[in-house]
Amino acid sequence: MDFELTREQEAFQDVVRAFARRELEPRALERAHAAEYPREVAKKMAGAGLLGITIPEADGGQGGTLMDAVLAIEQVALVCPRSADVVQEGNFGAIRVLAQFASADQKRRFLAPLLRGEEIIAVAMTEPDAGSATTDLATTATPDGAGFRVSGTKVFPNPHADQYLVYVRYGPGVNGIGSVMVRRGAQGFTVGRPAKFMSGADWAPLYFDNVYVPPEDVLLREGGFKKQIAGFNAERIGNAARSLAFGRYCFNAARDYARTRKQFGRLLCEFQGLQWKFADMKTKIDAAQLLLYRAATNADRGFPAADETTIAKLMCNQTGFEVASEAMQAMGGLGYTQETLVEYCFRRTRGWMIAGGSIEMMKNRLAEIVFERRFPQRPPRRGE
Ligand SMILES: Cc1cc2nc3c(=O)[nH]c(=O)nc-3n(C[C@H](O)[C@H](O)[C@H](O)COP(=O)(O)OP(=O)(O)OC[C@H]3O[C@@H](n4cnc5c(N)ncnc54)[C@H](O)[C@@H]3O)c2cc1C
Repeated sequence: MDFELTREQEAFQDVVRAFARRELEPRALERAHAAEYPREVAKKMAGAGLLGITIPEADGGQGGTLMDAVLAIEQVALVCPRSADVVQEGNFGAIRVLAQFASADQKRRFLAPLLRGEEIIAVAMTEPDAGSATTDLATTATPDGAGFRVSGTKVFPNPHADQYLVYVRYGPGVNGIGSVMVRRGAQGFTVGRPAKFMSGADWAPLYFDNVYVPPEDVLLREGGFKKQIAGFNAERIGNAARSLAFGRYCFNAARDYARTRKQFGRLLCEFQGLQWKFADMKTKIDAAQLLLYRAATNADRGFPAADETTIAKLMCNQTGFEVASEAMQAMGGLGYTQETLVEYCFRRTRGWMIAGGSIEMMKNRLAEIVFERRFPQRPPRRGE
C-alpha cells in the first residue's frame, strides 16, 4: 500500500495548478457570483486537455484515469471554485455515460462538442414526485415508428444546457427505465422559468410534451438503469472531490487569516480555542481525502465501486460542509461576507449533501453493506 502520489501525478498537479493560477484566478470571485455556467472556462479547459481526462483517446479524450480527473478538479477548485464545475461536467457526469454507452454516431454528435468545450450537458433525472426514489420516475417514452415520444416533467437541472440526458420509462419497474438524448429547441421541449439554488446557480423545470426522439438519439433502452447508475458513481466521485476541495479552500483561507489577524494583541492562531478547530479540520480533511483517493484509484479507467463511492461521498460531503462552516467561524465577520469565497464554498458544500444522492440515501446504502441484506424503503405490499 502506497499513500504517495506518483511522480507523474505530482507533475500533472503542478501543470493544472499553474493553468488555474494563470487562467482562472483573476476572475474567481466574480465567476462564483454569476448565475450562468462559465462557458468561457470550458473552452480554455478543452485547450488545456482538462476535459475528457478519463475518456479514451479514440473517443477524443485524454486516456487518463479517474484519479487524474480527481487531481484536476482539486487543483482547479483550490484556485477558482466555480470553475471546478467545468471539470465536473467535462469528466465525471453524463459525459462518462455517453463515453461508455453511446454509439459512434452519438459520440460524434453529442460527446465531441462537449469535449471541445462548445456545448454543455445536464442530466434530467429528478421529477416532482421522484427525488430520492428515482425509480418512481414517470416520464414516459412511448414507441412511435422507429423512435419514441417522450412526455413528463423534470426538476432541478441546469436550464442553460445545450443537450439533456433524460431518464425515461419505456415500461414498468426498474427494468423499464432507460435514457434518451434531447437537444434544447426540440419540438415540444420547453424550459420553465429559471429559479435559484442557495448557491446562486439557476435551475428550472423541464417540460416534455410528446417530444419526438428519433431512434439514433436513444441512449439506453429498457434495462439501462443499472448501467446509468454505474456511470452515476463517477458523477458522485466528482461531487465528493468538489465538496472536499471546497472545504480545503476554506481551510486554507482561514489558516492564512489566523496567521495574520490579531485580537487582544495576539495572532488568532495563538488561541487554543482556534488551534483545536484547525486540528479537527485537518484530521477530517485527511481522512476524507484517503477515502476519496481509494475509490478513485481502485476505479482506474473503469467506473468506481458502489460501496467505496458511497463512503467517499458521505465523508467528503460532510467534511466539506463542516470544514467550510468552521473556517467561516474562524474568520469572524469577514468569513460571512462576499469579500472572500468562503461563504460561497459554504453554500455549495451544503447543496452536495442533497444532490447526487443525499447523505441519508448514502447511509441507507451503507446499512445494506454492513448487514449484507436489502432494506427496502417502500412500505410492504399487501400480503408481504
Ligand atoms: C444543487 C443541486 C443540484 C441538482 N442538480 C440536479 C440535476 O442536474 N439533475 C437532476 O435531475 N436533479 C438534480 N438535483 C436534484 C437532486 O438529485 C434531488 O434533490 C435529490 O435526489 C433529492 O431528491 P428530493 O429533492 O426530491 O428530496 P426527497 O427525495 O423528497 O427527500 C427529502 C429528504 O428526505 C430524505 N429521504 C428521502 N428518502 C429517504 C429514505 N428512504 N431514508 C432516509 N431519508 C430519506 C432525503 O435524504 C432528504 O433529506 C439537484 C439538487 C441539488 C440540491
